[in-house]
Amino acid sequence: MTAQVIDGKAFAAEVRGKVAEHVARLKDEHDLVPGLAVVLVGEDPASQVYVRSKGKMTTEVGMKSVEHKLDVNTSEKDLLALIDQLNNDDSINGILVQLPLPKHLDEDLVINSIDPAKDVDGFHISNVGLLGTGQKSMVPCTPLGCLMMLRHHHGSLSGMNAVVIGRSNIVGKPMAQLLLNDSCTVTIAHSRTKDLPDVVRRADIVVAAVGRPEMVSGDWIKEGATVIDVGINRIETDEGKTKLVGDVDYASCAERAGAITPVPGGVGPMTIACLLANTLTSTCRAHGLEEPEGLTA
Ligand code: NDP
Repeated sequence: MTAQVIDGKAFAAEVRGKVAEHVARLKDEHDLVPGLAVVLVGEDPASQVYVRSKGKMTTEVGMKSVEHKLDVNTSEKDLLALIDQLNNDDSINGILVQLPLPKHLDEDLVINSIDPAKDVDGFHISNVGLLGTGQKSMVPCTPLGCLMMLRHHHGSLSGMNAVVIGRSNIVGKPMAQLLLNDSCTVTIAHSRTKDLPDVVRRADIVVAAVGRPEMVSGDWIKEGATVIDVGINRIETDEGKTKLVGDVDYASCAERAGAITPVPGGVGPMTIACLLANTLTSTCRAHGLEEPEGLTA
């Protein structure tokens, strides 16, 4: 079998298009413009690239984009004061603090100081609890993007065996929770899992979020399974150049899978699209308006 490629880039463009349409309607019918504030502390080059592209896409869908770039030595007190100000600013519907933060700042404290209703990254402990109990929450963007692609490809996921490799708070655990909420039978694998290839061979859906280049090999994949590759790893090629690869060995997995996401061009573009979708959802909830269909969990 040669897998169907799930084109995350094209699907993300579709999602952003839906968000833009809804944003235009909010403006026309309610004179509302959703606002997303991104806070970056320090000058980590990768974070700067992410923040720039988030800002660009936010304005492209018609939302207000606000960037706060703070010095690497910013004190916790000053950062918390800024978050408090954004929490109380009615023109801001989403607040994202770019991670990782410099070491002197307590990430948990900072994230939990964001108003949960504006926590468009879905990392606030209240949102984690709401998701865990199957209630309406803000859902972390990367797993939400994976879920949207899976629903788009399969329709219902009910009864499917899903294996999530990785148990991080930002990807693995919320991904598993979302699949469980969609009535999959979910296994979470991690670095201590025994016989990982055997565990993965039982899966109709495999989500790899490990951070190990091309770890999942084609002979681990059940014929016809759907493979979602969250990993982003930069490796050196034989020619001394660098290239991006996922956690999945694409060539061998594509021979057995029914469908597979590429890296780049799979999960990555969906993450920012879902950040915009979350900002729209948060705006609608704040104003008691109907939520956009198909853009939430
Ligand atoms: P973490 O490092 O936080 O978590 C990695 C997980 O993988 C851990 O639970 C770890 O297990 C598990 N793991 C490590 N080695 C093995 C192994 N040999 N076998 C099985 N499990 C293993 O990573 P993240 O969840 O933050 O990210 C995962 C990947 O996804 C990274 O490549 C990251 O760059 C990418 N990513 C991509 C995003 C996107 O937008 N596309 C967004 C976020 C992340 P244990 O808990 O036991 O240590």
